[in-house]
Order: sequence, then structure tokens, then C-alpha cells
Amino acid sequence: MLPYGRQTIERDDIRAVVEVLEGDWLTTGPTIDRFEAALAERVQAPHAVAISNGTAALHAAMAACGIGPGDEVIVPAITFVATANAVLYQGGKPIFADVDPRTLLIDVDDVAGKITSATRAIVAVDYAGQPADYCALRRLCDQHRLTLIADACHSLGGACGTQPVGNLADLTCFSFHPVKPITSGEGGAITTPHKDYYQRLRQFRNHGIATDFRQRERASAHVYDMETLGFNYRLTDIQAALANSQLKKLERFRRQREQLAEYYQLRLVDHPQFQPLDRTANTTHAWHLYVIRCQAELTNCRDSLFSAMRSRGFGVNVHYRPVYQHSYYEQQFGKQTGCCPQAEAAYRQILTLPLFPGMISADIDRVCRALDESIDSLVGDQQARAA
Ligand SMILES: *Cc1c(COP(=O)(O)O)cnc(C)c1O
Repeated sequence: MLPYGRQTIERDDIRAVVEVLEGDWLTTGPTIDRFEAALAERVQAPHAVAISNGTAALHAAMAACGIGPGDEVIVPAITFVATANAVLYQGGKPIFADVDPRTLLIDVDDVAGKITSATRAIVAVDYAGQPADYCALRRLCDQHRLTLIADACHSLGGACGTQPVGNLADLTCFSFHPVKPITSGEGGAITTPHKDYYQRLRQFRNHGIATDFRQRERASAHVYDMETLGFNYRLTDIQAALANSQLKKLERFRRQREQLAEYYQLRLVDHPQFQPLDRTANTTHAWHLYVIRCQAELTNCRDSLFSAMRSRGFGVNVHYRPVYQHSYYEQQFGKQTGCCPQAEAAYRQILTLPLFPGMISADIDRVCRALDESIDSLVGDQQARAA
């Protein structure tokens, strides 16, 4: 099976992890400090906080900017459930904004129409690795005094003009899950230009305690004070060693993804039934996912196409079902059918094709051949049914 995504782990990554295992600190030690400094430098952000995963990063971001009961946070309908769940963890209410059908990025005009007196923050998701329209979102946030949060779990290594993802929002959340741009097994981080958010994030990942273990060791003190309610969301030094080693390869991995995506683009010219998503101007795409959209005549065949590709050994996927269609959201907030028509239409047509740095162009040739065969078999099935 050729999966839709997977990690690339090399010898030096393994060596970096073993070095930490042989040292004194397995968790929240000097390797965390080194990783945070390296990440902050890479994305040109004043502060970085390592955290146990991307979901915890989103939760911490919501807590840092003070989301609580009665607050509304606008999130795109097409995203992983964790984006909206983080609002629920804090007792807030996610309000779903529609997406631009060409890019599946949050539609800024739809966001503007959904701002109320209860709105506190907007979350942009850099869908598939392509940065959202941060200039327009920034203007909107400044106008209404809202916090701009980036769910950049897809887009580490991306940029808007010369500004790297990580320095485009008040809080930027990253994931280091194995399919993401770099991995630490499980892992995440938040970057921010704001010192007060930075301090709250550090406290939030460590039970809400004001000092960490190493600070007390250095001060020869045993007393600690829990000032707020936090969690144990710490990343281990073992994971930070892997993340740090992977971070050095980020641009190489991104270029490999980009070259593969360009080759898909070239091959799919002969497949007018499939439309790749649009590229936005002046952005660097991190190419986390390669997503195609089936043209209207194939809309009702997407699931059959999915099965036909899977049965041929290609780990295609669908990113994502509109969050408000999940049963938990329907139970909590009622059916919201029609709330984001572009997202609902896109969900019926999208298919994620395999893309990760370890692939070669011959893999893409195989994917495209399998797409042809799958279409032929679907047409055959339809003709058989019609006869
Ligand atoms: C992966 C992902 C997350 C969650 O990250 P984890 O590290 O798996 O917790 C959140 N949002 C988006 C858009 C993601 O792709």
C-alpha cells in the first residue's frame, strides 16, 4: 500500500534520539530548550513553546488568549476536528466559516459576515500546506479586536511573501505527527510574538505551575505555586531530539514534496475529470497534502473511486468532512446543513493522493495509471447497471 503520507527517518535522526536516551534528561530538559530556540529562529518568531501534540497546541492557544464560556471562535468548516474541539475544551463555541472552493482555505468574506459581539478569535487553517490569506485576516482581526490563531499543522516550512508561517498570527500551532512536514512521533509547538502569551503557554503545558522543575533545581527550592489550571502537555526530550534533527531537513523535505506536486500537476493535465486545487499568489506551499477535486460528473462516484484506488494498493484519503456534520457536533449544536455550502460541495468531490518526501515520480505514474483504471472500472460498472 502506498500511503497518502508517511515519515522520513534517517540515520542521524536515530542517532539524535539515542544520544538523549543515554543522557540525564528524558523530559523537559536542555533538548527542549534547543528545539524551541531552533524553531523560533526558523520561523522568525520571538517565542516558541514545545507541547505534546498539535491538538494540545490548539488547546493551549485557546487558553492563552482567554477563550471561555460564551465566547465564539470562527473556524473553517473543512479541517481536522481538533481545530474546533480546542474551542470546546475551553467552553467556547466554534462558529463555522465556509471555504473558498478553489483553495479550500477559509473564506474571509464569510468570516466577516459571521463576526458577532461574542466573537473573540479567528482560526485560519493552512489547508494542505498552503498559507491562508493572513493579510486580509489580520485587517479583520485588528478592526474587530480579535485574536488571530493559525492552525499551521499542515504548513511548517510555508510562507506568505518573505514571512514564514509561524510569524503571521498572534498564535501559530504546529503538529509533528508522522504524516506532517516534520515529525517527533507525537509532538507540537506554538509560536507567538507576545511575551504574555508565551508565559501562559509554558505554564499551561505544566499544570499551571509558575516554575518548572529545572528552575527550582537551579534555585535549590522545593516550593512551587499552581497559579492557574493547566495540563501535563509536556513534550519529552526524546521527542525534541527527533524534532530538532528533522527541523534541519525541513526545506529539503518541502522541496521534494514540491517537485512531486509539480509532477502530479503535469500528469493530471491529461485527466480533465480531476481538478487540482488552485495555488495562491506570493505564497510558499508546504505541500502537506496533494488534493484533487472530481469534476461534477464524478461527484457521486468519489466513494467508489476511493474504494477502487484502495483496492489497487493506493492509500488515498478524504480531508475532511465538514466538522459540523460529525454526530457529536450535531448532538451539541443541532444539524447545521447548508451553513457552509462550498465546504459541503467540496467534501463530496475531494480525494487526497499519496504525497511524501520518500516518493519518486514513478510512484506518481502508478497513481495516475490507477486513477485511469479506476475510472474505467466505474464507467464499466455504470454501463453494466444501465444495461
Ligand atoms: C494534525 C492536525 C491537528 C492535530 O495535530 P495532532 O498532533 O495530531 O494532535 C490539528 N489540526 C490540523 C489541521 C491537523 O492536520
